[in-house]
Amino acid sequence: MADNLEIPTCSIEEFLNTSFDYIICGGGTAGCTIAARLSEIPNVTVGLIEAGKSRLGDPVVDIPGMFPGQFANPDYDWCIYSEPQAGNRGRVHQVPRGKYLGGSSGMNVMVYVRGSMEDYDNWASFVGDEGWSAASMQGYMRKHQTLEPAEADLGRSIKFQNKFHGTNGPIHTSFNEAALPVECDFLKACEDTTGISEKAEDPWSGHHLGIHHVLATITRKGPNKGKRSYSAGEYYAPNHTRPNLKVLCEARVNKVLLDDRNRATGVSITRRGEEFEIKVAREVILSAGAVFSPHILELSGIGDPAFLKSAGVSCKVKNAAIGANLQDHAISFVNWEVNPHVATGDVLRQAPEAMQAAIKQYAETKDGPLAAVPNIMGFYSAKSILSEGELQKVMQSIRKIKPDTAFHAKQIEQVIANLNDEKSSNIQIVLVAAMMNPEGDPKNHSNLFTDITDPEKIGITAVVGIQNPVSRGYIHIKSADPAQQPTIQPNWLTEEADAIILGAALRMADRVGRSKHIRDSISSRLFPRPNVDLQNLDQAKEAAHDIVSTMYHLCGTVALGEATDSHLRVKGVQGLRVADASIFPNNLSGNIQASVYAVAEKAADLIKDDLAAEVRNPKAKL
Ligand SMILES: Cc1cc2nc3c(=O)[nH]c(=O)nc-3n(C[C@H](O)[C@H](O)[C@H](O)COP(=O)(O)OP(=O)(O)OC[C@H]3O[C@@H](n4cnc5c(N)ncnc54)[C@H](O)[C@@H]3O)c2cc1C
Repeated sequence: MADNLEIPTCSIEEFLNTSFDYIICGGGTAGCTIAARLSEIPNVTVGLIEAGKSRLGDPVVDIPGMFPGQFANPDYDWCIYSEPQAGNRGRVHQVPRGKYLGGSSGMNVMVYVRGSMEDYDNWASFVGDEGWSAASMQGYMRKHQTLEPAEADLGRSIKFQNKFHGTNGPIHTSFNEAALPVECDFLKACEDTTGISEKAEDPWSGHHLGIHHVLATITRKGPNKGKRSYSAGEYYAPNHTRPNLKVLCEARVNKVLLDDRNRATGVSITRRGEEFEIKVAREVILSAGAVFSPHILELSGIGDPAFLKSAGVSCKVKNAAIGANLQDHAISFVNWEVNPHVATGDVLRQAPEAMQAAIKQYAETKDGPLAAVPNIMGFYSAKSILSEGELQKVMQSIRKIKPDTAFHAKQIEQVIANLNDEKSSNIQIVLVAAMMNPEGDPKNHSNLFTDITDPEKIGITAVVGIQNPVSRGYIHIKSADPAQQPTIQPNWLTEEADAIILGAALRMADRVGRSKHIRDSISSRLFPRPNVDLQNLDQAKEAAHDIVSTMYHLCGTVALGEATDSHLRVKGVQGLRVADASIFPNNLSGNIQASVYAVAEKAADLIKDDLAAEVRNPKAKL
């Protein structure tokens, strides 16, 4: 990616005049990845359609510390909203999603985590295909990644094992270049509180129990030093001159066009109020993300007939799994005020001269606080934070869930196995070394970061999240009009088991705040309010219901093995695949972007393999 980016995308005229073998809908994390990989084949033509603009070269995307400016801003964000949340006192939440070339990889918090081995092995079990197992997915992890070694150890004690890391993948991952003392104290406090000081030598190996430093998708060396490393910058920009790759921005895909044998023949799009049809010779690939891929399918008449009918869309292909199985990592927060001597990121908010210094540092050396992400995170098992009796209560509540399908029944068994395994990463804790406002109006997520209740105070925030939820939500069309957002129902904490585990995670974070390593830094707890006894699990559970939010890890709405076959082909349709976070059959432990890149890399290989098979045997057209 060059420093001065004036990378062009395609005009509508050129796009309409090109014959495409593959049309990819959605130029986000997965879409840019697949487009770059498929267009490696010179005699194949690839068209990528993105609803938003290209923001290549935009500092709000490139400078890591500027991401909160994207929330609820229609230049970057879809500005879409959840249904009222029964698990959160009926509150409506904004659901941030990137709307530009690069999608959510351009607006995310850049934390780079991989799931546990058992997560991908569980995926493979849904389709009976070892190609989705952890061993196989590790190859796709290496393929998308370049691990940049850190200059200084900063007490991380991480021993990277080369076999788990890429050296020439497009997405660069690196550590922050500095750590605040309070971050190091928090790490020690977590070890002290949990009694777990032993941790995986390499938390990107498929085992990440314990507390460790964070890798982020930020480049630290070369011309892109200090910039976010994301799909548009790394997969599209270097390949934009390929004659067989065309990217059309500001064009919304309305639906997939099907012939009378239910084969995808192209897509209908709207650009600047005008509607066009784009034909495709081989396949349409939906990579519009966990919210919009199922939406486009339903708009195309593919889905559960009951939901389609209520929106006035006639059903062409019955596939009841479309839009079902929405999963997320529900999170809550413990926020402490710290004493005046403690250095936190709040100085940038409070002292204009500190912000000026950070801007100057970034401009001159491309490092400093504006090139940093949260530094410390960890994973713990449910067994390590719940008593035996509490765990049994969780299990009883899970066993009461009546599964809708055999797929759902299997998911529940997998969650039970995970929660019973003391080596399983069932909760995550992330330290944000600054004040946040968990009580900010969730209808605008920038409030979490900027709408500080008492700007005079400085603080630190522990974000805790559940990794194996049993609550299930859905995405379904409300209207046959593609411009109307679908119903987004995450259903955070609607199952009691999830609320108990999140409450126990709050209880654990509260204990961390009392550890000898950090208590001298903390003056008081702000959220949950000090009158809430977080050591009482019932009160902690209620506190989780008071303040629950999204970790932004929506997935599962076109699930592998249920809505698609093992090659990501939508069941009941020819020439149509889905490849993005929608296909996760289960959520995994950890932040999900690495797994979306891995899914996209794998999808490209599947498509290439199927193409090669077809060339060998032309009668076998998919
Ligand atoms: C605010 C935020 C913070 C996050 N933080 C982290 C983090 O720190 N670490 C981590 O690992 N993960 C994080 N995630 C999650 C991760 O970034 C996403 O799960 C992942 O990027 C999703 O990739 P995707 O390809 O499925 O969808 P996206 O990257 O969202 O791509 C979908 C694309 O399709 C386009 N599109 C949608 N509908 C249409 C249509 N009808 N026509 C044309 N184009 C369309 C969109 O504009 C978008 O570009 C975060 C996500 C968000 C939103």
